[in-house]
Amino acid sequence: MTAKRPRICVIVNPVSGVQRTALDDITNYFAAQQTHEYEICVTERGGDARRFAQQAVARQVDVVAAYGGDGTMMEVAEGLRESSVPMAFLPGGTANVMAIELGIPTDLSAALDLALNPTHQVRVIDIGCVDNQYFLLRSGLGYEAEFSAGAARGAKSKSGRLAYVMNAIRKLRDMRPVRYVITIDGEIHVQRGITCMICNSTSIGVPNLRLVSASDVSDGLLDVIVIHNVRPGTIIGLVIDILRGILPGAKSRGTQNTHWQGREVTVTMNRRQLVARDGEPLKRAKRISAHIVPQALRVIVPATTLETSVEHLDRDQAAV
Ligand SMILES: [Mg+2]
Repeated sequence: MTAKRPRICVIVNPVSGVQRTALDDITNYFAAQQTHEYEICVTERGGDARRFAQQAVARQVDVVAAYGGDGTMMEVAEGLRESSVPMAFLPGGTANVMAIELGIPTDLSAALDLALNPTHQVRVIDIGCVDNQYFLLRSGLGYEAEFSAGAARGAKSKSGRLAYVMNAIRKLRDMRPVRYVITIDGEIHVQRGITCMICNSTSIGVPNLRLVSASDVSDGLLDVIVIHNVRPGTIIGLVIDILRGILPGAKSRGTQNTHWQGREVTVTMNRRQLVARDGEPLKRAKRISAHIVPQALRVIVPATTLETSVEHLDRDQAAV
């Protein structure tokens, strides 16, 4: 008797990033492998990835793999949320921050190998929620929302990471600090800043580098960060280090920030600010509330990820 082959549903966002031939590559890969039954769902518009993931859960597939950037991953994660079906990341967008956070290979065929490898590990991670909208990475208010949303609307597929950097510098000129009143698990904090980030992951898309120490996508806590100011030189310096292949974080970035952790967060602002989740604009608002959904998503990771050491941007800064 032949053993039943595991079933994998592959959700592909064909317009992610610059990899126009990815759909062909993925189709050819699955046609050649013998281990899994597969189906490939191609997204056409926002919401498709979430719906395909929900339908795959209803069909009781064994794995759902997602090809795309952080926006696609967020949708698929939302569709798989609180199910037992593990998610495999196939990084293919301009920004693949969550895949980097989880130690997923950036090479497509290596990521596919991982998804199908029976010895991979399954890690259970948290998901964040802001005003009934889920996020995998973070919800940004103010500056973070402005620059990431600006990059998303611009020539994202052509200029990739450079689009983020150009927007980051351009938007910085226009930002005025606002007063944030932040309630975290009942405690009130008041801070002025140009951006407030409510994070599940504090990864910034560079391997082993995070915005703050002690952040963990499996600890059941949100990391709340207010950045009081950013100098243009901070961004430029960071980019130069990344382009030169140097791991930043060994020196101060000249950024002043404050950091807390908690489960339930509300933020009120004295002026309306743009709110984004995982780099996609949601709305302008003067008040938002967010919470963590602990242990909400099963993700396929390489066997070694759990032991990886992590450098921190705030290593020589006084995070409060
Ligand atoms: Mg956490």
